[in-house]
Amino acid sequence: MSDLRELYQQVILDHNKNPRNFHELPNATKAVDGYNPLCGDHYKIYVEVDGDTIKDIGFTGNGCAISKASASVMSSSLKGKSTAEAHQLFDVFHKLVTGEPGSLSTAELGRLAAFSGVSEFPARVKCATLAWHTLNSALESDNETVSTE
Ligand code: ZN
Repeated sequence: MSDLRELYQQVILDHNKNPRNFHELPNATKAVDGYNPLCGDHYKIYVEVDGDTIKDIGFTGNGCAISKASASVMSSSLKGKSTAEAHQLFDVFHKLVTGEPGSLSTAELGRLAAFSGVSEFPARVKCATLAWHTLNSALESDNETVSTE
């Protein structure tokens, strides 16, 4: 295991153990349930949107380390961003975990780069993208439930 891989592992373990924004949002403008039946991951993503700005994100629920760390990193990465930036980052993240070449360097990816190893485990891609799909749905549609199946 390379040093870099070990570092990434630490980011995931840390966010799994101490998830950021792991709470309901009292002022949420939208809350969506996300399920990944393959793994048993289940989260509720809360988002407070003001115009085009994501003012706050929170989440509750349970699942594997990758899904929880992903929700945690997503929430802290997207707070304060515009919805357009959120869509862009979702695209970047999706490419990263499916192993497609992306346009951002490791430095630009920041904490998201911790999930690059997921591309070696196709079954875990749904774990890593669950929170993102759920947030996307919260921003885009009137659906209140998202399932990866
Ligand atoms: Zn999972």
